[in-house]
Amino acid sequence: MAPAGMGDPGPSGRFGRFGGRFVPESLVPACIELEAAFRVAWSDWRFRQRYAELLRTYAGRPTPVTECHRLSEALGVRVLLKREDLTHTGSHKINNVLGQGLLTLEMGKTRVVAETGAGQHGVATATAAALFGLECVVYMGEVDTERQALNVFRMQLLGAEVRPVASGSRTLKDAVNEALRDWVATVENTHYCLGSVMGPHPYPWMVREFQRVVGDEARSQCRELLGGDDPAVVVACVGGGSNAAGTFAGFVDTPARLVGVEAAGGSAIGRGIPGVLHGMHSYLLQDEWGQILEAQSISAGLDYPGIGPEHAHLSDLGRATYYTATDGEVLDALQLLSRTEGIIPALEPAHALAWLVNAARSGDVAAGTTVLLTLSGRGDKDAEQVMRLLG
Ligand SMILES: *Cc1c(COP(=O)(O)O)cnc(C)c1O
Repeated sequence: MAPAGMGDPGPSGRFGRFGGRFVPESLVPACIELEAAFRVAWSDWRFRQRYAELLRTYAGRPTPVTECHRLSEALGVRVLLKREDLTHTGSHKINNVLGQGLLTLEMGKTRVVAETGAGQHGVATATAAALFGLECVVYMGEVDTERQALNVFRMQLLGAEVRPVASGSRTLKDAVNEALRDWVATVENTHYCLGSVMGPHPYPWMVREFQRVVGDEARSQCRELLGGDDPAVVVACVGGGSNAAGTFAGFVDTPARLVGVEAAGGSAIGRGIPGVLHGMHSYLLQDEWGQILEAQSISAGLDYPGIGPEHAHLSDLGRATYYTATDGEVLDALQLLSRTEGIIPALEPAHALAWLVNAARSGDVAAGTTVLLTLSGRGDKDAEQVMRLLG
């Protein structure tokens, strides 16, 4: 069992009572092959070096930590932002796809498949596939391909094939099912590049390790800035939970209070019921008959109806706490950061900021407290939607 230290969950892939590998018999060998390949690669300094080199020369790492003077004054707490918005493609997703892309080459495979909701992970995967010369197929719910036509075009520009999924609710959860189905049939030459800390073992662990760079960098940057101290509060938004997991991994062994913020309409920890979906045991939004419910949020990146199993475990342990932010609070927070700091955030990390605004005002976070907030992505992709919502 993985301790609260966010270590290696071992061959069972269990985080307390969550996680595991609930897949059909036909997928077990693929998961085992992937776990073995990742274990070897992740303990091989040459792989680590190639990965670190790509993060530096292609993704633009390390990203800075920015001290927000005017926002801090407005809130009465000291706010530091970890700037994942400044990476190539504009979010933390690049860290994961570069890691899985390298691993695909390592396994001698030539093709990747991915699921995508709004298209952000699809675009990231298509980016890595272009860079590594891999064939790329992205499964996307039919409803989402219509809502996100521009991202479909981006993926096509990058050389990927987008396959609309017409089954079920024709959204993200159905796209995951189709990607898994493709993987079963093509595992000889194909890697499934999953987009968050979810799915069957080893994905929740592997994706967290590929995102750990966010927390590790932030921790040493904070220490430099704070004269050897750690921030008292560390906060990130949670969809599947990868940017939060990567951030928390850097601070879990400090006394920092760890906070994850979900969309109010997609709160798997707040309103979810433990169950099995997409190969994992975790909190899921489901009705009384066990039917999976669609998450409702203005933020497409937070619309996953579950949460990564390690977050479910951290919540059980009380090591991390999870809150929600409403659409209205999120829009206010987005404007506040834009006007005080000249940084337009994506709607997803604006959830983390919305929580902080409330917590600072209510005294839940005391005046003068130092807070590190992971700004998981930039707001360009959401500008049109925000314009309509505010208009
Ligand atoms: C996809 C996305 C998220 C949500 O994914 P996690 O796995 O929870 O990190 C958050 N922020 C941005 C900018 C995203 O693109």
